[in-house]
Amino acid sequence: MKTSSILVIYTGGTIGMKRDSVDGTLKPFDFSQIAGEVQELSKSSVRITPKTFDPLIDSSNVEPSMWVELANLIRDSHDSYDGFVVLHGTDTMAYSASALSFMLEGLDKPVVFTGSQLPIGVPRTDGRENLVSAIEIAAAKDACGQSLVPEVCIYFNSRLLRGNRSTKFSAEAFDAFISPNCPALADAGITIRYNRDVIRRAPGGGLNVHTNLDTRVAILKLHPGMTPEVMRSVVCSPATRACIIETYGSGNALSKDWFIDIVKEASAQGKILLNVTQCISGTVNMDLYATGTALKNAGVVTGKDITTEAALGKLFCLMGMSGDNSWVKAKLEENLAGEISE
Ligand code: ASP
Repeated sequence: MKTSSILVIYTGGTIGMKRDSVDGTLKPFDFSQIAGEVQELSKSSVRITPKTFDPLIDSSNVEPSMWVELANLIRDSHDSYDGFVVLHGTDTMAYSASALSFMLEGLDKPVVFTGSQLPIGVPRTDGRENLVSAIEIAAAKDACGQSLVPEVCIYFNSRLLRGNRSTKFSAEAFDAFISPNCPALADAGITIRYNRDVIRRAPGGGLNVHTNLDTRVAILKLHPGMTPEVMRSVVCSPATRACIIETYGSGNALSKDWFIDIVKEASAQGKILLNVTQCISGTVNMDLYATGTALKNAGVVTGKDITTEAALGKLFCLMGMSGDNSWVKAKLEENLAGEISE
C-alpha cells in the first residue's frame, strides 16, 4: 500500500538528459523515461505524481519566473501532497533552492531539490540514488505524522543540505554541493540519519507565498585592479536598487578614498549595499579591521555568513515585498529562513 504522496516536479538538468545522436550535446527527455531508468521507484511505498515543466531547461537558463511558477505550484498543491521533490540542473540549484526558501514563508512540508552530475540513463549515474533518496526524505514523517524535514533543501551524494546554505563547489565530483556554515540536515548511509537539532520547523500560521520579486540587484566581486569607473557604473547605476558587494575575508575592502566615496555616494542615493564574503566559509565581521569598519560607517549592511546565492534570493524577495529600502536593510540582518547563523 502507498503510504505517502509526493509531487515530483521535473524542471530539466543533466539528470533527465540524453546525448543527441546528431550533434552529441546533452538534451532533456521526459519524466516517464527517467522513471523507466529507475526500477526502484515502482517498488517504493510512496505514490509519485510527476509534473513536467515546459520547456525543460538547462538550469543555466533559469529565470525568477520559474521560481514563481514553482512557488505557485507548491502553494496550489500543498494540501494534496506530503512533500515535493524538484528535479533541477545543478548549476543554479543553490540559487533556486535559496530563492524558494524565502518565497515559501511558513513552509511545513519538505521541498527537496535534487539532480545529478551524470544523466540517469548512464550506467555510472549518480541520479538514481539521488532521486530515490530525495523521494524517501520528502515522504519521511515522525510518529505524530509531521514531516521530518519541513524545509527547502538540496539532497546530493548522500547528504541533505539546507537549500539557502548550499553552494555548488565542484563541476565534476559527485559530491558537488557543500554547506560550509551549516551542518547537514541528514546523512544517508544504510539508514537516513536526520540531524533533528539543525532542522527548522515553521512557527505555524500557514504557508505565505511571496511571488513578487524585485530583481534590480547587482553583484560586485572585489578584485585588485578594480577601477572607479567600473565600480560606479555597477553600484550607482539607476538600474541598481541593491548591490551585493563580495568582499575579502571577514568583510574587508580596499580603503582607497575613491572606493569609500563611491560606497557613500550609492548609500546617499538610498541604495541597499550588502557585504558578503568571497570566502566559502566563515562570516563577515565589519568590526574586525579598519577596512571593514569603513564600509559599515559608509552604510553597508552585514550579510554575516550568508551565501551569495541566498543573499540574491533574500533581496529579490524582500525588495518585492516593500519599496522601503530602510525596511529591507533591517530585514537583511534578520535570520528569516535559516540562511544566517545566530
Ligand atoms: N548544465 C546542467 C544544468 O544545470 C548541469 C547539471 O544539471 O548538472 O542544467
